[in-house]
Amino acid sequence: MNVTKAVAEKEFSDIFGHAPDGVWVAPGRVNLIGEHTDYSGGFVLPMALPQVCTVTAAKRDDDRITVCSRQRPEDRVSAGIDLVPGDVTGWAAYALGIAWALRAAGHRIGGADLVLDSTVPIGAGLSSSAAIGCSVASAFRDLFDLPLEGLDLAAVARTCENEFVGAPTGVMDQAVSMMAQPGHLFFLDTRSMRIEQVPFALDQAGLTLLVIDTRTAHELNDGGYGSRRQAVEDGTRLLDVPALRDVGIQDLDAALTRIGDTTVAARVRHVVTENARVEEVVRLLRSGADPREVGPILSAGHRSLRDDFEISTPELDAAVESAEAAGAFGARMTGGGFGGSAIALVDTDAVDEVKAAVAGTYAERGFQPAAFFSAVPAAGAHRLP
Ligand code: ADP
Ligand code: MG
Repeated sequence: MNVTKAVAEKEFSDIFGHAPDGVWVAPGRVNLIGEHTDYSGGFVLPMALPQVCTVTAAKRDDDRITVCSRQRPEDRVSAGIDLVPGDVTGWAAYALGIAWALRAAGHRIGGADLVLDSTVPIGAGLSSSAAIGCSVASAFRDLFDLPLEGLDLAAVARTCENEFVGAPTGVMDQAVSMMAQPGHLFFLDTRSMRIEQVPFALDQAGLTLLVIDTRTAHELNDGGYGSRRQAVEDGTRLLDVPALRDVGIQDLDAALTRIGDTTVAARVRHVVTENARVEEVVRLLRSGADPREVGPILSAGHRSLRDDFEISTPELDAAVESAEAAGAFGARMTGGGFGGSAIALVDTDAVDEVKAAVAGTYAERGFQPAAFFSAVPAAGAHRLP
């Protein structure tokens, strides 16, 4: 359960001894399809989760920023607003780096006290990091009357995560966390930044999007993610295109013959086929098709991430395979990979069966138990009224 406004305000005054100026929230997200396409100009189709990072904040008279997190109760981290990358490391960088990114973009801010309290599972591939960045950026915008819209704040939060924290993410996480609408998938063209809110009426169809958190943490700062980005860049250069987005599915076979390195070729094949899968899912949902038809496309996406992009894990594969065997219409790992969460599209009546199947497989294989919840498309960042 997310904290209520009253509880958040009390948490703040217990820590800082005075009342806050406001309470802001920004959600985590789950990506339905479109993985590792957001740094080559491609398409993504995530949705916001009901789980949010809540930020309670007040302006200060001086130029210091102090941040506490209910999930890191031992720490209180403080810095001047003139901080630069490297000054703060660890979890607090996700919040304090927003001050740096805003100032780097030319905005005037002052000091502030911040308390974070998040229900987004941390390190589960559900973007607890963007939830912090987007909630803190929203708080600064309102506290200091900055002339910034949703996508501007998303860009600030991405700059924070890329350059202050040092995590080379694309723009998907921050964009959906800022701009999502309840009941909708968030279709983003990461080249033009065109957004389409695509209705996703799971409920009406008797469907549940089950999130299976493998509770194996992914780590974006280690080599796996960086080497995938490198391969995407290498493929782009070898094919002499502005971005892999420019390689159409109909040109894929010809393109692959021009790439000697089989690993780079496989990475390119994932990205190009993944963009086509996003477009296909959007086409189906726009046309009012039964969302069950999306299932096989999700499963194809998983195979591509497992075999061509090679970022799945035994736990993710087991979650996907068990869910499918227990009747899911489709399933895939979601998020950056190397751990984190999987999703399965299942009949709401079959949710318990699918959970039991995954839990059974995990027990058999000696994996630690997975956690489950159903994802309902929720709202993007906002101030609590
Ligand atoms: P994800 O975004 O998939 O959850 P990341 O590795 O990108 O995983 O971000 C997780 C990191 O974000 C944590 O290691 C921690 O540093 C920080 N973080 C997320 N939520 C909180 C929180 N509520 N309090 C403190 N730090 C947090
Ligand atoms: Mg993250």
